[in-house]
Amino acid sequence: MIAINNEEKAESDHKMSASVGTALSEAARRLDANISEPRLDAGVLMSHVIGRDRAFLVAHPEATIAEHQLKQFEEFIARRVQGEPLQYITGHQEFFKLDFEVTPDVLIPRPETELIVEAALELVDANAEFAFADIGTGSGCLAVSILNECREARAIAIDISEQALRIAQRNAERHRVANRLRLVQSDFFDAISVNETLDLIVSNPPYVSDDEMKTLQREVQREPRAALAGGSDGLALIRRLLLDAPGHLRPAGYLVFEFGINQDVAIRDLVDREVWKLIEIRNDLQQIPRTIVLQKK
Ligand code: GLN
Repeated sequence: MIAINNEEKAESDHKMSASVGTALSEAARRLDANISEPRLDAGVLMSHVIGRDRAFLVAHPEATIAEHQLKQFEEFIARRVQGEPLQYITGHQEFFKLDFEVTPDVLIPRPETELIVEAALELVDANAEFAFADIGTGSGCLAVSILNECREARAIAIDISEQALRIAQRNAERHRVANRLRLVQSDFFDAISVNETLDLIVSNPPYVSDDEMKTLQREVQREPRAALAGGSDGLALIRRLLLDAPGHLRPAGYLVFEFGINQDVAIRDLVDREVWKLIEIRNDLQQIPRTIVLQKK
């Protein structure tokens, strides 16, 4: 009798959350305490689990989901409640025009970093042959996006992390640019010959200061420290980029990189005007100065 009662109870629990709509509402309630957009996150995870788009979820709240899918969904929600970024759970982030695989070994591509791609595409002839490097490539989002737009270009994607390079390789293969991309494990240009002259260097370097590292959002704390931490003032790696890049660029070649909030004044000071011409500093969608375009003299 007891066993039967338990079974009945389990079945009624299960029925309660076996439709898309009910499972979503329950999940949103669980996420509500500490996630900024609980409905959105629950929807993204549900879509991922059942392999249907978010419009389907809205149109068919009555659709039933299989028990194994419900179990998986609940496990994903539990991970999200614990502060794991959505993108590490689904393994995906869109960037510019493509979908990128992401894991905790790489920074999750941010919308503001698309500014680097936009700026780079304005500087080059998209139909011409040219060579560029992406320093600290992570997921490969910058190198792969530019190669995808510029079909004659070749690139070197550099990262100090072997795990990151593996993800970048997968993303390059998936978007069919791997034959024009060389992945190199290196600390900046250490493993790159100065005889290889580049037309363009792009980078989203780590630029978070030590103080800011202590107050990072819970989700950002799950991202690789090496992709974020820029030393005491956040500018350690940017200094190095500004010093090392000229030796690998042809005259009139470009350097385009991202920097952090309130770093624009300091960055202007760091740029040696004997070496570089400052073309522009671009604001992101929130009007925060984000991206600098420099041309080697
Ligand atoms: N934009 C990231 C953040 O807000 C930092 C990325 C970086 O250091 N390049 O945390």
